[in-house]
Amino acid sequence: MTFSSDHDLGMGRSIPRRDFVSGVGVALTGSLLPFGFADPFMPLLGGRQERIDPPARTGMRGTHDGSWETAHGLVRGEAWDRALDTGETYDLVVVGGGISGLSAAHFFRRQVGGPDARVLVLDNHDDFGGHAKRNEFRHDGRLYLVNGGTLNVEAPSQYSPVAAGLLWDLGIDRTRYWTGTEEVRRRYAELGLSRGYFFDREHFGEDRLVSGWGRRPWSELAARTPLSESARADLVRLYEERGLVDPWPRLGSDEKKARLTRMSYRDWLIDVLGVDSSVALMQDSSGHLFVTGADAVPAIYAWEMGYPGFAHLGLEATPPERLIDEPGGSHGRENAARAGSGDPTMYFPDGNATITRLLVRALIPEAMPGSSMEDVVLAPAAYDRLDRDDSAVRIRLSSTVVGVRHLGDTDSAREVEVTYVRDGTARRVRARGVVLACWNQIIPWLCPELSDTQKEALGYGEKAPLVYTNVFLRRWRSLVDAGVSGASAPGSFHQSLGLSTSLRMGAYTSGQNPDEPAVLRMSRYVYEAGHSRREQHRRGRRELQQTSFEAFERNIRDQLARMFGDHGFDPAEDVLAITVNRWPHGYTYSYNPLFEDPRWAFGTPDDRPCVVARQPFGRITIANADAAASPHSDAAINEAYRAVQELRGAMG
Ligand SMILES: Cc1cc2nc3c(=O)[nH]c(=O)nc-3n(C[C@H](O)[C@H](O)[C@H](O)COP(=O)(O)OP(=O)(O)OC[C@H]3O[C@@H](n4cnc5c(N)ncnc54)[C@H](O)[C@@H]3O)c2cc1C
Repeated sequence: MTFSSDHDLGMGRSIPRRDFVSGVGVALTGSLLPFGFADPFMPLLGGRQERIDPPARTGMRGTHDGSWETAHGLVRGEAWDRALDTGETYDLVVVGGGISGLSAAHFFRRQVGGPDARVLVLDNHDDFGGHAKRNEFRHDGRLYLVNGGTLNVEAPSQYSPVAAGLLWDLGIDRTRYWTGTEEVRRRYAELGLSRGYFFDREHFGEDRLVSGWGRRPWSELAARTPLSESARADLVRLYEERGLVDPWPRLGSDEKKARLTRMSYRDWLIDVLGVDSSVALMQDSSGHLFVTGADAVPAIYAWEMGYPGFAHLGLEATPPERLIDEPGGSHGRENAARAGSGDPTMYFPDGNATITRLLVRALIPEAMPGSSMEDVVLAPAAYDRLDRDDSAVRIRLSSTVVGVRHLGDTDSAREVEVTYVRDGTARRVRARGVVLACWNQIIPWLCPELSDTQKEALGYGEKAPLVYTNVFLRRWRSLVDAGVSGASAPGSFHQSLGLSTSLRMGAYTSGQNPDEPAVLRMSRYVYEAGHSRREQHRRGRRELQQTSFEAFERNIRDQLARMFGDHGFDPAEDVLAITVNRWPHGYTYSYNPLFEDPRWAFGTPDDRPCVVARQPFGRITIANADAAASPHSDAAINEAYRAVQELRGAMG
């Protein structure tokens, strides 16, 4: 079945609030509309005309239009010299309302200022949570939840006492958690679903979806691919780990590992194992953890993470304590250690947005009614209560900070002035202390007083650009017909997709009937292979910033039609809504032994840029996951704790 025209793809259908690349076209985005606007699409979704809270806004989300322009203006040299003085003073101002910023506010009240401490959290988005965002869809009066960014709590047993303690404090009891994912696996097994692999015509000669990946014998799977005969043989050789030649038979395990550290996985596959380049392209998913091609994945990480092609080397397993010296050792090693912990991963229906919603409840109880981990999932967030005069803690959204400076000499000043821009107007507030829980790269522009060395270190890490798209489907029968619950699609616009893990939590339960709606999660990792890791990220970010929602929509409809059209999927009928969570500044940069930073990729030397960057500066301290060079939620919490301790010291 082919769907070649825009009409066939359903491009004319009512996907709500399209927005376009800035400056190009009509932009009716949530961010530009005040709270309380009516969504013209809601009746089509079976809902009523009503106020749309940020999680329910569809179209281009994540770093949505309206959230980034001020910061980009600052970097281009725009100045806001004449800011309105609000007259507001706080004990603490936190820049950034992600997990780290909200945790910093929480720790400050617990350990420094007490429950009456006046705290202001400023964030440039129209929703709190930073990367840990929640997406909502409604149909026929039913709510469907999914993560818009941060997915899960990986290996909670590896969380530090600080991070585990915070979760416990918020009411998250990991010992009672989590049967949901098992249920889902059982349900998919009952339906005969497995992972699939999609070969697209642009890279593999023809469109073909192969189900049963990892379940059926490799020779059978290889025969069903559109690969050439010799590539099929390579695929079997690689996955069955048979007939592969050890290039270093005389070397010991440690020496072999040292060599694998200096070689990319792609080079290992093609140059050493002699695998066909189409089979190597299939392994590009090894780089998605880092948002790069396999050419930027050190072969040693690929081995540690269990990718195929190493069994014949006889490498000795690396003990966990050598894999992870401290958070920030390296992303690949951290993940290997986490995966090896054997811990069940904790998934909430809206991802780690549950953590940020619980943090908001702890900070401003009226804004997130309820009392337990179970009830927070359906708690009606009161966005109009986040920033009120009568509350000790205030969360001010759509507010981009453009300046943070001590009033007086850095060492003796008793106050810090924070300037932010909201609705095009700059405003000033004062605080006894400031935690910068925003991204490292923007900090030199906020604090020109910092030393050049610290600024350089803050600018070092390049955050990885990626997209989590959520497609709200009228039904998912076509996936059942195809026999897959998800698939890898290397080379395609979205390189992987899967049904959202349906879950029960409290009174929330997601549907399990293939003839009812469900959310399909699609991931796009944006990079340009062939460069250093940082350069791959820079190029990917530029591309992402120039991709319109319309381009996303067309690609999504086209890709799904090509994957599932033969199984009954109709892109014009079956897509109810699309939320594209774009994260041009996504995962925190972690060090990589292949490129500029081999010395920092192992161990924890004190001259790592993240360490130099996070040094306190008078009454200004630095939190955020970037401070640990670790793209994980627990790093964001640990760094918040440290930043608050440092601030306590500075405030005397
Ligand atoms: C798509 C994605 C998926 C992820 N999945 C996982 C996962 O499954 N498990 C896991 O453990 N980790 C995951 N991570 C990593 C994890 O989300 C982060 O490490 C963590 O959420 C970072 O929290 P943070 O508060 O440090 O930063 P952020 O969440 O980025 O929050 C910082 C906030 O500061 C704001 N800000 C920046 N500059 C300014 C300014 N000038 N003024 C005002 N506000 C500003 C930012 O816009 C942002 O809202 C994921 C990350 C991404 C991007």
